[in-house]
Amino acid sequence: MTIFSKIIAGEIPCYKVAENDRFFAFLDINPVNWGHTLVVPKQETDYIFDIDDEQIGAMMQFAKHVAEAIKVAVPCRKVGMAVIGLEVPHAHIHLIPLQQEGDMDFKNKIADPDPARMKQTAEEIARAFRN
Ligand code: AMP
Repeated sequence: MTIFSKIIAGEIPCYKVAENDRFFAFLDINPVNWGHTLVVPKQETDYIFDIDDEQIGAMMQFAKHVAEAIKVAVPCRKVGMAVIGLEVPHAHIHLIPLQQEGDMDFKNKIADPDPARMKQTAEEIARAFRN
């Protein structure tokens, strides 16, 4: 079971943002920017491009709706999207609010993000989410 499956199962805490029957979204614990969110399928697959066509289409649609909620809740010009997947073997999409190109720099994480602000950010995105 991956760490993300444990989060989805409620065995490990997270700052939850959104959920439907197939996908789950929560804040990245080491955000590069406030509102940095991960979108994951509930069904475990390591490599995102091993996901079948229908499922990856649905995942992208869910990610779009999460991105729309981030855009409402977090001041930004656009929401950027990235897939890396070298650390956690459970496919996930990074959604990151952007003011400038450098906001997407994964070497530039927020040091010790304040838990109260993380909680508030997740709640505000969750309030704006429409599946
Ligand atoms: P990567 O697999 O390279 O796309 O990176 C995995 C991402 O998952 C990193 O940005 C981590 O900060 C994030 N991450 C790892 N563990 C957790 C966790 N327990 N809760 C939230 N995010 C996590």
